[in-house]
Amino acid sequence: MDGQKSCLSCGGSLQSLDQSYHYLECGLPNVYLEGVQSTCEQCGEIEVTIPNVPALHRAIGDHVIRYGSLTPAELRFLRKSARLTQEQLANEMEINRSTINRWETADEKVWSKSEDFLIRVIWVQHMYGLRDELDALKNQLFEMVRRAKEREDIRINLAELVTT
Ligand SMILES: [Zn+2]
Repeated sequence: MDGQKSCLSCGGSLQSLDQSYHYLECGLPNVYLEGVQSTCEQCGEIEVTIPNVPALHRAIGDHVIRYGSLTPAELRFLRKSARLTQEQLANEMEINRSTINRWETADEKVWSKSEDFLIRVIWVQHMYGLRDELDALKNQLFEMVRRAKEREDIRINLAELVTT
């Protein structure tokens, strides 16, 4: 990154603008960026420079995953910032791609609390490079759920029951 930026239109020198930028391009309605806008001294053109989009999107996601309930737009944002296709996210959640698409295009949240939680876990996993650790944990949990479906008789020997 060069410190002295110049206008892309005329080559004039740019002055940073002390205005927040409504970052609608990220797909969320409530994100404002400081220190990204500059104006050309010669032609008056306003430029927006975001040097590190992945880092920015991770910072935005850090806020989003702390919200009580995700919106469809936030779900889409988290998926895309983790660089996952709908197909890939669906595979990680062991559901259909069309379900993810339905969630993202719904007017309001239509997925469950546990699905919401899993989406956040997957996001953290991808953004913070915890793939192996969390993959192992996630596989264990999926395996538990799979086995839970095969219901069988519960046999408990009271003589062996530990009471405290
Ligand atoms: Zn200019």
